[in-house]
Amino acid sequence: MRHLWAPWRMDYILKLKKKGCIFCLRSKRKDDRKNLVLYRGKHVFVMMNKYPYNNGHLMVVPLRHCVDLESLSPIESKELFDLLKVSMRALKASLLPHGYNIGVNIGKVGGAGEDHLHFHIVPRWAGDTNFMPVLGETKIVPDHLANTYQRLHSAFIDHLKNGTKRKGGEKK
Ligand SMILES: [Zn+2]
Repeated sequence: MRHLWAPWRMDYILKLKKKGCIFCLRSKRKDDRKNLVLYRGKHVFVMMNKYPYNNGHLMVVPLRHCVDLESLSPIESKELFDLLKVSMRALKASLLPHGYNIGVNIGKVGGAGEDHLHFHIVPRWAGDTNFMPVLGETKIVPDHLANTYQRLHSAFIDHLKNGTKRKGGEKK
């Protein structure tokens, strides 16, 4: 992660200060595709990062404006962890990453740009730190994000359908 180069994030950091909590705003907006929201659970939702560290950079976010892990209820904690797993399966099915970085920044000194708790899932591929500086400037275009959204969204739907089927047909 330390060598990933994402200059477009500066744009994000500079824009961020003006608008209030982006996660509360996103969670309330209706157009999920436009807002890059991939999945909505009861207490937690999953969205793509508009300013990704890498292709398929997802964020798993409680709907409630929680500022730290301790303030999550047991139900929210469980759903958050479940959706981390579902997100990894969706990424695996659609983008075939070789590995992941999963993390959470808490507090300003922890690198948090937002108060609202959110987990990052950054898919990694062997050699991605080499090609990122080259592709970085050109790959993050709306079309690219829309394509990735489409692939991931289908993978979420497939996974949830199959997951339900499997659950129903499970035998002990
Ligand atoms: Zn919020």
